[in-house]
Amino acid sequence: MSEVLSDATWEIELPLPRQVDAETAGDIEKESVFVSPFLERIRVSPDRTAATLLLRDRRKGDEVRDKVERYLQVMTRQIGDFGVKVFFETERRDRGAYEPEVNRQLVERGWLHDFGKGQVAYGGPVLKLARLIDRKAAEHYAAAFGAEDGHFPAMIDAETLKKCGYFDSHPNAVTFLGNVVEDFDAIEAFRRANSCSEGALLPQHDHLHHDGMCLNPAACFPCYPTLSGKRFETGAAYSWLGRVFRYESRNIDGLDRLYEFNVRELVFVGGDDYVRDCRQRSLPIVEQLARFFDLDCRVQTATDPFFATVSAAKKFWQQSQEVKNEIKIPVLGADGGTKLLACGSINLHGNFFGQRFGFQDAAGQPGQTGCVGLGIERWVLAAFTQHGFDPARWPEAVRAEIFA
Ligand SMILES: [Zn+2]
Repeated sequence: MSEVLSDATWEIELPLPRQVDAETAGDIEKESVFVSPFLERIRVSPDRTAATLLLRDRRKGDEVRDKVERYLQVMTRQIGDFGVKVFFETERRDRGAYEPEVNRQLVERGWLHDFGKGQVAYGGPVLKLARLIDRKAAEHYAAAFGAEDGHFPAMIDAETLKKCGYFDSHPNAVTFLGNVVEDFDAIEAFRRANSCSEGALLPQHDHLHHDGMCLNPAACFPCYPTLSGKRFETGAAYSWLGRVFRYESRNIDGLDRLYEFNVRELVFVGGDDYVRDCRQRSLPIVEQLARFFDLDCRVQTATDPFFATVSAAKKFWQQSQEVKNEIKIPVLGADGGTKLLACGSINLHGNFFGQRFGFQDAAGQPGQTGCVGLGIERWVLAAFTQHGFDPARWPEAVRAEIFA
């Protein structure tokens, strides 16, 4: 163990409880932003046997080290490298090189505005492409599964989120909404403080209350309460464009990782055969979408980035049951190297939601569900990375729509 004082930060180096695989090392670094407010982040050594802690406040060294040691204990318990199973792979026809720094170039062209906190505004070809990706997926879902387009709210109550198991699996990613208390003096104090202030002043802590409303963190959740009490003789499919929010702390990064994004969602409900058949039939649809946009792409088994303490067990379950398949599309990382971006997932939930929300299959058993979610902004980033800014490189049908 060594302690080095650098200019801006105080560093502590700790050995890892065991050598970890590359995926676990990535998870340790990414989730480290949630360990302590006094920890900037953790860097895992190239041989993946040690961790460097970058502290924000050197006086908090002992406190941070204690938390990090417990965090590393649970994170290194996960077993990575299960052997990934690839279901299909597409190769693009465009022979041009991958375009670097797409986020910056989209901003320079005025097609994207980055608010800096994980939210973006966009127009022009970016908006046209986002809408085309969404529309093409919706058309396939309607044709293949009879899924009519629906609409669901962006807000969700804590009761529903708890029922969906979200507080258990991703407690770090939840956003609670706050309101000024229904109190004449509190509201007046908030108004007056802001009427003469330079920047925005938030209400004082005890004048803010949370009534359990949250921003929805997974597109399919708002669908399940609407199914309560229903019985599905064969099965049904629902599809919509959902607005999704995941608190990422300092991990936000252009279109790669947003706090607020859009997902084209597809949910299947019914008996086991119906739901498994739907999942099977959704794979060639994703493949057709990748071919339509002419993208290098693959679908493979995957696990969710669960919160540290539940990660090992849940990942093992997901991997061994093959309940989660991920749509991976190559883009370029900050270092210029290729990285596989998770642009969507294809999931089976068993009868978890059927039990929690009380809907049944034909036999009167808790209904089975599955879902397919496509992260629209990530598909946009991947398409601009793989085809660049010369319209001639884009497939004809896409070019005609987005550069018109
Ligand atoms: Zn879903």
